[in-house]
Amino acid sequence: MSRELTHFIGGQHRAGASGRFGDVFDPSTGEVQARVPLANQNEVDAAITNAVVAQPEWGDTNPQRRARVLLKFLELIAKDTDTLAKTLTSEHGKTLADSRGEIQRGIEVIEFSVGAPHFLKGEYSVGAGVGIDVYSMRQPLGVVAGITPFNFPAMIPLWKLGPALASGNAFILKPSERDPSMPLRIAELFLEAGLPAGVLNVVNGDREAVDAILHDPRIKAVGFVGSTPIAQYIYTTATAQGKRAQCFGGAKNHLIVMPDADLEQVADALIGSGYGSAGERCMAISVAVPVGRETADALAAVLVERVRKLKVGSPLDDASDYGPLVTAAAKTRVEGDIASGVSEGATLLADGRGLVVEGHEQGFYLGPTLFDHVKTDMRIYREEIFGPVLLIARADTYEAALAMASNNPYGNGVSIFTRDGDTARDFTTRVNVGMVGVNVPIPVPVASYTFGGWKQSGFGDLGQYGADGFRFYSKTKTVTSRWPSGIREGASFTIPTVH
Ligand code: NAD
Repeated sequence: MSRELTHFIGGQHRAGASGRFGDVFDPSTGEVQARVPLANQNEVDAAITNAVVAQPEWGDTNPQRRARVLLKFLELIAKDTDTLAKTLTSEHGKTLADSRGEIQRGIEVIEFSVGAPHFLKGEYSVGAGVGIDVYSMRQPLGVVAGITPFNFPAMIPLWKLGPALASGNAFILKPSERDPSMPLRIAELFLEAGLPAGVLNVVNGDREAVDAILHDPRIKAVGFVGSTPIAQYIYTTATAQGKRAQCFGGAKNHLIVMPDADLEQVADALIGSGYGSAGERCMAISVAVPVGRETADALAAVLVERVRKLKVGSPLDDASDYGPLVTAAAKTRVEGDIASGVSEGATLLADGRGLVVEGHEQGFYLGPTLFDHVKTDMRIYREEIFGPVLLIARADTYEAALAMASNNPYGNGVSIFTRDGDTARDFTTRVNVGMVGVNVPIPVPVASYTFGGWKQSGFGDLGQYGADGFRFYSKTKTVTSRWPSGIREGASFTIPTVH
């Protein structure tokens, strides 16, 4: 009998009451290891009610004290990282080292969010008019929600929780139903760190829970990360309900290889970013764009060699470069994408289908797959694959490569490898993509900047974390005051102006 997971509402674990459950797999063995309750509207309602009750006192707590709760959380999560990484790996399938890295990237945003007293400072103008001072303050929104994907079950919730909690909001987290244990553990650690019960609630579920969140007027903002069609749905629905929304979607990230690039360095970058975490990263590089035939031929030859040496195996084995995909359904979908690439005429240089990992025969493993001569009208180029599949789409010139990345409907990340500063500068300025790397394959910005894709990769006008995180999770109030109060100018029937 598999374990039964819970929700976390009002500081307590709550068993599911809807009677609906989802399976949580161990992707490395293919076994069901737990059942996750899928919340109904009443359960979401209970979570929101708890949050509504808890938020005012938390919002009134001064930012420095709120930051101290985050500091305590950092201490607790640091102590627990190895155990957390095992939990994460057991449900997601990424290697232990990668799970530790993910937790660390989440921690960095909490560290940044400790700066809340600074980020929530207002402005003050003395004497904006006769006896008039103007100042602004940043206040919490109230109760906000986050809906997060399976591929970063620790990092992405932490990206949202840092600025949202530090700004004084209460939070409803609806994590992915594929790997819900990390978010539950994060909620426990926050409670232990001193976050008042009810300020952070975790509601597990699927579309029913999401719709309950979207249609509840007590939720003031929704932050989403996941696939593009759902991002669009949530953005449209949330904003139509008058909520603030930032919704991040899928990706197709290109890496431009200029003829002057160091090919071994490029191969390291492509192999790590294309196949790491079985390609289940929104910032994975999925398209290599070599410029010129010579570069393309040389790159293809180097990559074939490197792909052959990749070790796919149990994510608990330190020797594995990457582990299984998250579910059997994900594996079947990617196998279908590979078949479509073949039938559309791309050259299959390495085929990962049919891989069997000894001792893990039922695991959701897929070997590394490499295509060459991919054209931009092929389905494998147009759609996100989200698996260990790397495409080579050749470009004749730098301008053609730049146009390819810029014209792709997605605009999350892009990278260029070159030794020429002029080209790099031209590329970073002109490319129509939100996050750009120069000789860096996965340009996920550090916590003090902000993460945000463009075009079909991001809906809404503010990025995640960094100063944008605080802007998203707080609202500005501006006060115009006149002292001494005795100043009299008589009744005025025109709009006040500064004179
Ligand atoms: P997903 O869109 O299937 O699920 C994301 C969340 O939405 C989950 O919590 C899920 O329960 C919920 N959801 C799913 N279907 C829904 C529906 N019909 N109505 C309402 N809610 C629904 O995404 P996923 O498979 O968990 O994650 C992978 C995707 O996320 C990829 O497309 C990847 O590129 C993207 N991603 C993007 C970023 C980014 O920052 N741009 C980061 C990580 C992942």
